[in-house]
Amino acid sequence: MATEHQKRNIVIIGGGIIGSTTAYFLSHHPSFNKERNSITLLEATKIAGGASGKAGGLLALWAYPSCIVPLSYKLHQELAEKYGGADRWGYRAVHCGQIDMYGILHKNKAPSSIDNKDKLDSVSLQKRSEKALGLLRAAGVPKELDWVAAEGIRAYDEMGTPSTTAQVHPYQFTTSMASLAEDQGVKIIYGSATNIDQDAGAVKSVTYKPKNGGEEKTLDADTVILTAGPWTKTVWPAAPISAMRAHSVTIRPSCPVSAYCLFTSIDLPRGNSRKSKTVTPEIYARPNNEVYACGEGDTIIPLPTSSDLVEVDESRCQDIVDEVTSISEELRDGEVTAKQACYLPNVSRGGGPMIGATKVRGLLMGAGHTCWGIQNAPGTAKCLAELVWDGKVKSANLSSLDPKKFM
Ligand SMILES: Cc1cc2nc3c(=O)[nH]c(=O)nc-3n(C[C@H](O)[C@H](O)[C@H](O)COP(=O)(O)OP(=O)(O)OC[C@H]3O[C@@H](n4cnc5c(N)ncnc54)[C@H](O)[C@@H]3O)c2cc1C
Repeated sequence: MATEHQKRNIVIIGGGIIGSTTAYFLSHHPSFNKERNSITLLEATKIAGGASGKAGGLLALWAYPSCIVPLSYKLHQELAEKYGGADRWGYRAVHCGQIDMYGILHKNKAPSSIDNKDKLDSVSLQKRSEKALGLLRAAGVPKELDWVAAEGIRAYDEMGTPSTTAQVHPYQFTTSMASLAEDQGVKIIYGSATNIDQDAGAVKSVTYKPKNGGEEKTLDADTVILTAGPWTKTVWPAAPISAMRAHSVTIRPSCPVSAYCLFTSIDLPRGNSRKSKTVTPEIYARPNNEVYACGEGDTIIPLPTSSDLVEVDESRCQDIVDEVTSISEELRDGEVTAKQACYLPNVSRGGGPMIGATKVRGLLMGAGHTCWGIQNAPGTAKCLAELVWDGKVKSANLSSLDPKKFM
């Protein structure tokens, strides 16, 4: 797409993990010359203000789609090594498993949204008694996973080991990428793109409303990279991207817990006559004594116009707290440190993400990363940077993710 000596004006729309990491790879490509070329990252609200700041941060070689996962997983490793990611954005290898449990613990602190009559009495586990340890071992629970209530265990299956599974803190990773890009000459502008202007089938500029008010402004652009996550459709209506809200919480456990990310299935008691209710929160232990948990998505509240207007439903967050504290004393006796919501970007007709050039000359897209956008961001970004500077994607075969196949 580019020749070495051509002046380039590149505008990236959206400062989530995809846009920020794309800014990083574009500005660290050998062909980028900040005296000659300009790269602008246009963010409507706040870097990592959407899902990229509120996701779990699980990385896995067993994620999807397989055409980008290995590249992206390796790039996460390399970035962490290069920039001290362990300290800077909580990068570390983790265990991962599917755990099936009965929610047996009584909430003894914060008010619960589960009816009192529906709860079982508090169960004292006599922490890690011989009997409890025996129950954990019998269900195949690894020795180090010692922060789930043994009496509630039904089954455990390993999904990933530290050689196939890792994690980052998504907010810290995304803001680090944006700041490393800035150090390299990328300009960050806060404003909301209202139009991608075209001339003769090619992009020519981006019009935006500055965040702090005032008249609309225009940025000249020969290359526009649309990375607006669930908002992609509001900027480019033909993009088949839909949005799904999801709530999550963070908890400071009563004592540090081992590095496990758990996909759960928890049977919650609902009183004698009624069948139990099964819930499936994901629970990720993080470094620095934090545990992240998220619940299922909903489509009750449509996508608001910006990430700072996302409605948080307190009761949905409390449900997640009640669910995860029903299987772990360390979580039950811990402190809830955040209750939040964000929107997942899905490709409406399935598949995705969409990564690559569109039918409009100079318009590229990196959008629709569903539940693996943190994992797949560096791979997406590297491939987009290759497309811009080398004229073709070299590091992976992304033909199945070609935006032209989706629009
Ligand atoms: C609960 C939950 C848990 C998750 N856990 C994981 C996980 O463990 N691992 C994993 O790999 N993935 C996970 N994901 C998925 C991941 O969070 C997303 O795929 C990823 O964050 C999408 O990034 P994005 O940059 O495309 O979108 P976003 O993070 O939504 O960023 C889009 C940005 O564009 C900006 N924007 C919007 N409109 C405009 C405009 N007109 N002009 C300028 N800027 C604009 C927004 O303000 C926003 O900052 C999870 C998602 C959810 C919801």
